[in-house]
Amino acid sequence: ELKKYQFMLRLKMPAGECPPSLYTTLDDISETYGNKTLRLTTRSSFQIHGIHKSNLKTVVQSIVRAGGGLYGASGDCSRNVIAPPAPFVDAAYAQARHVARMVAELFAIQSHAFADLWLDGELAASIEYWKKELDMDEVRRLMTEDNGRGQVLQDSVEPLYGKLYLPRKFKVGVTVPGDNSIDIYTHDIGIVVFCDAQGQLEGANILVGGGMGRTHNKEETFARAADPLGYVPAAALYDTLKAILAAQRDHGNRAVRTNARMKYLVHRLGIDRFRELVKSYMVGGGSALESIRSMPPWTFQDYLGWREQGDGRWFFGLYVQNGRIKDELKKALRALTDRFNFPLVCTPQQNLLITQVPATARPDVETLLASFGVETAASALDPLMRDAMACPALPLCPPAITEAERVMPRYVQRVRELLSKVGISPHASFVMRMTGCPNGCTRPYMAELGFVGSGPNCTYQVWLGGSPMQTRLAWPYIDRVTDDQVERVLEPVFVFWKSAREPDESFGDFCDRVGKAQLEAYAQRYWDG
Ligand code: SF4
Repeated sequence: ELKKYQFMLRLKMPAGECPPSLYTTLDDISETYGNKTLRLTTRSSFQIHGIHKSNLKTVVQSIVRAGGGLYGASGDCSRNVIAPPAPFVDAAYAQARHVARMVAELFAIQSHAFADLWLDGELAASIEYWKKELDMDEVRRLMTEDNGRGQVLQDSVEPLYGKLYLPRKFKVGVTVPGDNSIDIYTHDIGIVVFCDAQGQLEGANILVGGGMGRTHNKEETFARAADPLGYVPAAALYDTLKAILAAQRDHGNRAVRTNARMKYLVHRLGIDRFRELVKSYMVGGGSALESIRSMPPWTFQDYLGWREQGDGRWFFGLYVQNGRIKDELKKALRALTDRFNFPLVCTPQQNLLITQVPATARPDVETLLASFGVETAASALDPLMRDAMACPALPLCPPAITEAERVMPRYVQRVRELLSKVGISPHASFVMRMTGCPNGCTRPYMAELGFVGSGPNCTYQVWLGGSPMQTRLAWPYIDRVTDDQVERVLEPVFVFWKSAREPDESFGDFCDRVGKAQLEAYAQRYWDG
């Protein structure tokens, strides 16, 4: 029998926005050509698994004709640009979404190769929906405008990338002060927009050098939280972003792929020398780059449940366990979209927002979801499950060493039972994340409790010490914990947290305060009796 080669397709969806017509197309494709599920990603997008090679062209063409984008969702280029998913209409959130779309287009691949390969050269077929929101002449001007400092590569199809593109993938996230729904410290570039009293973009704080991927037992690879680069006024924003891209393009490590992300360049140079490098690519030697502006503390938001958008309409944050849309949930979303045509937004926590809902339609939305048995009360969820994320891993992802998505619900349940056993409140929660390999797609290195696949049959490296607001990198506690050792490893840690925590101290903050050595010593005494 011939092997049926299967592919995964990932969409590019700036700010996670998905028009209803695109959603129904994806739903149709997943039923006809895929594995009958849709997968939300941690970069606010959709993946479709199980597309046979012979169907690829049909599927690609269907997505593109529905206004969707695939070009740049993978590869050594700027990936999907994310923004806070909440469709608030206030100026700051609207500007964050606009900047996300602008960056997506400014850093978009220009070559026609995709259209030649998949659309029979029919460029007109690829008018992605978000382009309609943009002044594309302005984007083109920004992309090709040469400031004389080497950002733009003349005579190249790709004015910013040149012939060789980037050394590695490149991730950009945009948010507003205080909203850390995008895990701001995990991107190559993190942008925090500020607006003036008139709602115009005033400027932005820029962070650089975040990234999660690493390789086990290779010390030269590591997860890294971003550093502050500085504040730029709005007029210098895109010049600065182009300068950062050019710095990585020209100075990133192209010789060693595992050290090619921009975080290693920032680490190697240090943030001060990296800043000088970026300035050397900017107009006026980077005089526009100022000290970082003070910001309110970050809060982690999942936006589940009902919220008002600011224009009289509402949005509903729907919990999707590990981002997998299947079975009754999938039927419910299709029925909802067919009936109401509400735009959807994918969140960085792999959930889905149903947006632009008139107040009068709220009961109908709830009734429809309930008729498929979909739980709409976020309070009905175990808070541990609500905050948890796992990547697809086995059997869908080739780098996977072990399970993630399929076992995460059981792991959450085991952790809850353990917390209960040692007398910790059933309402206690912390951020738990799991991946099937050290690439870290669900950002486990920022979690308060991270499981990173390190061996077959559910063997994980356990990470502790991230913050509940995702502002601090965690650290590896134990390298290889097999499935049957999880309770033995975590029980003393939970008992120690319960007995020695400061008032209201979160699990991650506690672990970070006491540190690995004290946790190990406590565990030793605990089991020695
Ligand atoms: Fe695949 Fe590894 Fe990413 Fe999980 S973390 S989705 S196993 S590459």
